[in-house]
Amino acid sequence: MTITPTNTEMKLKRIFIQNQLPEALTPLHRMSHNILWSWMPQVSELFMSIDPQQFVELNYNPVALLENLAPARLNELAQDKDFLQRVNAAEKAFDAYLAEPQKPNLPRVAYFSMEYGLHISLKLYSGGLGVLAGDYLKEASDSNVDLFGVGLLYRYGYFNQGLSLNGDQVHHYPAQKFTQLPVEPVRREDGNWLKITVGIQGRIVQVKVWSLAIGRIKLYLLDTDHEDNSPEDRALTHQLYGGDNEHRLKQEILLGIGGVRAIEEMNLLPDIYHLNEGHAGFLSIERLKNYVDGGLTFPEAREVVRASSLYTTHTPVPAGHDHFSEHLMRSYLYNYASELGIEWSDFMALGRLNPEDEHEDFNMSKLSIRLSQRVNGVSRLHGQVSQEMFTSLFPGYTAEEVHIGYVTNSVHYPTWIAESIHDLFTTKFGNDWVRDQSNKEIWRKVHQIDDETLFKTRHALKVRLLNYVKKKLEVDMRRRGESPRTTFDILSKINDKALVLGFARRFATYKRATLLFTNRDRLRELVNRKDQPVIFLFAGKAHPADQGGQDLIRQIVHISKDPEFAGKIIFLEDYNMEMAKLLTQGVDIWLNTPTRPLEASGTSGMKAALNGSVNFSVLDGWWAEGYRPDAGWALPLERTYDDQYLQNELDAETMYRILEEEIIPTFYKRDERGISPEWMGYVKQIIAEVAPTFTMKRMMDDYYERYYLPLGKSAAAIRQDGMQPARDYAAWKEDTAARWEGIETVENNSFDTMNHALPVGESFTAEVVIATNGIDADHLVLEALFYQRIDEEKIVLRRSQPFERIASTEGTATFRIQLDPSLAGVYEYGFRLRPTHELMPHAQDLNLVYWI
Ligand SMILES: *Cc1c(COP(=O)(O)O)cnc(C)c1O
Repeated sequence: MTITPTNTEMKLKRIFIQNQLPEALTPLHRMSHNILWSWMPQVSELFMSIDPQQFVELNYNPVALLENLAPARLNELAQDKDFLQRVNAAEKAFDAYLAEPQKPNLPRVAYFSMEYGLHISLKLYSGGLGVLAGDYLKEASDSNVDLFGVGLLYRYGYFNQGLSLNGDQVHHYPAQKFTQLPVEPVRREDGNWLKITVGIQGRIVQVKVWSLAIGRIKLYLLDTDHEDNSPEDRALTHQLYGGDNEHRLKQEILLGIGGVRAIEEMNLLPDIYHLNEGHAGFLSIERLKNYVDGGLTFPEAREVVRASSLYTTHTPVPAGHDHFSEHLMRSYLYNYASELGIEWSDFMALGRLNPEDEHEDFNMSKLSIRLSQRVNGVSRLHGQVSQEMFTSLFPGYTAEEVHIGYVTNSVHYPTWIAESIHDLFTTKFGNDWVRDQSNKEIWRKVHQIDDETLFKTRHALKVRLLNYVKKKLEVDMRRRGESPRTTFDILSKINDKALVLGFARRFATYKRATLLFTNRDRLRELVNRKDQPVIFLFAGKAHPADQGGQDLIRQIVHISKDPEFAGKIIFLEDYNMEMAKLLTQGVDIWLNTPTRPLEASGTSGMKAALNGSVNFSVLDGWWAEGYRPDAGWALPLERTYDDQYLQNELDAETMYRILEEEIIPTFYKRDERGISPEWMGYVKQIIAEVAPTFTMKRMMDDYYERYYLPLGKSAAAIRQDGMQPARDYAAWKEDTAARWEGIETVENNSFDTMNHALPVGESFTAEVVIATNGIDADHLVLEALFYQRIDEEKIVLRRSQPFERIASTEGTATFRIQLDPSLAGVYEYGFRLRPTHELMPHAQDLNLVYWI
């Protein structure tokens, strides 16, 4: 007889055993669960001091640190009087910060973004866009405004970068353990986890909502990676910017539609929705649907949504704006048309330039512009470039009239400043000066710091950076299987006395990371000058699908192994926020060489500026505003050649010349103390005159002043009396649009410009009678516009002046103008009629013109 053994199969269940913190240490747990710890030095130093090595190995993640600490170490800490004292002091400061009441009477803003760069331990970002959004939320907390964020909680986020021996980029996607992140489930009143659903091709996807505390404010994160969903739907929140276009569409549906549903469920009632990039565009579709469900018609709902939306566009590259084919759109969003009470073709028209063109893709920027009353770019130059890029959406207007403004990006001071530099500032700027950080007068006190002290502080940061570089190279090169000899050769040549230049950012081809290598001989001469050592540090990731960007990385890695460049040209793997801090704080020169005008803003140069690292950059993006000849160096704003190849060559030549003749000699012009006073002049000027304009408080203040406060008013105005103004305004728009085609010019008596020149000093007069086709004359504006022609395609507006209405009858309106053009020259001019209304925030809010 045989015995059948039972229960032989392994039977395992999962259990989560949480480290039990001794009572005295519980404040550490609390503080680790608010990312505020990362920009409050008192708290971050506390975590670092527990176990520096482990802390760094755990990506500076205090939640993971507390979980990994051995019980013996915990008990030791719980007995350590000095440590406990520091815990208490830190907790006091932490609580005092949190207890400060919010600024009253501000509109509540919901900020949507696909990525957030808050800290290296939160894999929610890829590059500049994310870091900007993360910095912005931190400032919202510091400025104590009524704002919260919405985004996705990624399991894998953006990749970690490795390199092969050959310099090929290798992509790693380690999973985040949510239990080791400072995120908490959002709970319903009954204690259950808040879940919402989103329809994806007829499937119901269950979405969990998490919250992340950022000081005094919250970031809500959506997550589909759990057992309720199919593997395909779970993957929705796996990677940031991974997968194909269809995957992107699904993620944007999740962010926009899911985000609005989560807000509704939490009853957060925002006044304003801020779309950080077109990725968030679908939020407006969901909001439209909610208003239509609530009894408004589509045009009425559109007025409410528009009056409460701001869209920030971030890229001047048309291909950088997401677009989806009609086929894709149909398979995911077809039902929305009928739910909104419109035809499918009208739905598609929301994202098209030409509503009639059935082959045109659905474009997220066009959608976002159509459904947002206000639009902005992210630097002055980028605002102008965006006006040009979107002019075709507003026929009858030239670029400079398009209602796209700008708010120049900036950086969160407490996140990016080196401790030692901050301490030095504080000795002269006074306590608590950070609250008044946009005040240039305060920053100018940097001139009271003596050169030697500032030089030494900065030099120590450089030494710290180079030590980091050596350690990192040693580890990375060993792992790659690099020969010990190459490694030793490189490490031994890294010289602390060198002039160190840094270039780190995404390896998108327009950023021209390899411009420096255009003339290899000249570069070799430059880095091998006797007694004037120079080091170039490079870092950055290329998108996994961007072969061009990866080629550039390979090229730099190869050069870095050439004996003549060893220890002088260095590529660092896996650029991230912590490395960005070390680099921007430690280098002497921060380098940026984009193809103009493709750098919308750029922010890493601002991080450098705060710390007294001098910028050398193309006058594009923010540097076109920040540059001063006594605070840095620049490549010219205008391009000389249409041919990009020639332009690159010219820029490279200019760059070598400035390095050889200006930057290197200035850096090495040492006095008897061993420092260069002239160099310190640049350092102090970039701190005094440039930095204060590019910290987050200025950007936040600009957003309130230029956009949130006016939008708060227009949103409130349109929602009054059960949305009656929205109904009236939509009806007026519809009526005006219907009558517009019937407008006619009855009479036009103007100065005869065909046959006579107008003498300077003489005024230009005209009288025009319009048949208004039933449109109230109060709702019409007639303007005279004077343009100057630049070339075949381009004219620029020089002057505009409204006519005066001098009479109106039942069906006509008579306008007169008398204007002194005052400028001599040849102009092209015309008269343009457009509608106006008290709820109209700008001319293009009803996109109709009639040229006489
Ligand atoms: C600041 C930052 C960026 C943005 O740099 P740009 O100069 O705007 O290109 C990208 N990545 C990281 C990790 C950063 O910290």
